[in-house]
Amino acid sequence: MKFIDLGLDQRILDGIDAMGYETATPVQQQVMVPILEGKDIIAAAQTGTGKTAAFLLPLLHRLLTSPHHAGDINALIIVPTRELAIQIAEGLEGLAYFTDVSSIAVYGGGDGNSFAAEKKALTSGADIVVCTPGRMIAHLNMGYVKLKGLKYLVLDEADRMLDMGFSDDIAKIITYLPAERQNLLFSATMPQKMRVLANKILKNPVEINIAISKPPEQIVQKAFVVYDNQKAGIIKDMLGSKRFSKVIVFCSKKQNVKELTAILKSAKLAAEEIHSDLDQKSREQYLQDYRNGKTNILVATDILSRGIDIEDIDLVINYDVPNDGEDYIHRIGRTARAATTGTAFTLVSEKEQSKFALIEELLGAPVLKGTVPAEFGPTPEYNPKQKKSTGFKKRR
Ligand code: AMP
Repeated sequence: MKFIDLGLDQRILDGIDAMGYETATPVQQQVMVPILEGKDIIAAAQTGTGKTAAFLLPLLHRLLTSPHHAGDINALIIVPTRELAIQIAEGLEGLAYFTDVSSIAVYGGGDGNSFAAEKKALTSGADIVVCTPGRMIAHLNMGYVKLKGLKYLVLDEADRMLDMGFSDDIAKIITYLPAERQNLLFSATMPQKMRVLANKILKNPVEINIAISKPPEQIVQKAFVVYDNQKAGIIKDMLGSKRFSKVIVFCSKKQNVKELTAILKSAKLAAEEIHSDLDQKSREQYLQDYRNGKTNILVATDILSRGIDIEDIDLVINYDVPNDGEDYIHRIGRTARAATTGTAFTLVSEKEQSKFALIEELLGAPVLKGTVPAEFGPTPEYNPKQKKSTGFKKRR
């Protein structure tokens, strides 16, 4: 489907052109028409499917073509993380480049100046506000946010928001909104608690399911069954060979991120760390350095496993086995974006074997096991049925 067939405003088509999009992705094909028709939707769609533009484009069209109040906030997009807020705001800037639609991202972690700038925009009105829940509540508590004329509410990565404990914050924000509005809910997974949230918020929603519970086929996956104390050395060895040009290493704990980054840096590798102990400025700076190629290795917690769209990542390493299959798919999906190829390595320690076996079950096939160079010494057998897993979180 071509975007022009949707009858989008010419200024939006120009933005789409400038972004280099030619045809609509499957999620865009399915959600744009109902959104343009003013319907509520609930869509199961993962990051990487083009879901951001799928709601931004029809929202922009409706803002440009239906009457709206310039002094009000017309659309509110609530997202779980600052990084996702920034990314959506940037995408919006591109798509809305030829329009006069105003927007602002409102997220925590900035300095006093950014709070003041947010306050100014929220007081004088902005067509589209992209926000994280906590920061929006902070502004709402001060009483100046103009939400009475709001027409569109988007909850993006809604499952992630529930997992992060934001359901009360979302409910509170909604008490400030007019009852008559269009609601769009996007979520990678649809656990039962999502249905409960959807029932509270949506009116006769159109249901769309584009969830791919399988990683893209162009990702080559390999697992290395090792002892815990072998992991850091093996990663240093993998990255020292310089076979890969842009790498993300995921760790489940901040402490592991910090320790591994220090090890990689001391081996003179261009690595940087991202986790929630860093201030917002450093996080943005490190991401920017990585995007620009100043560094080529990012060691991160799951903060980066969803929603972040960085091109050309050719290797994802799971230092720890992720907690469940969905998280695994999100993490490895950071590579092989936009139809390129990618590699995903997972280091599986003895106590993580049964957790990894459950991920293999979700994938529907075992992941190929790689051999560690002999210099690292003997490695354990892969025998998940005999090992006890710790910390496995079952999702559904
Ligand atoms: P998302 O799932 O929204 O994170 O989008 C993933 C990536 O796909 C982003 O880099 C978008 O800019 C890009 N994208 C979105 N829609 C299209 C499209 N129709 N054609 C090509 N790329 C797209």
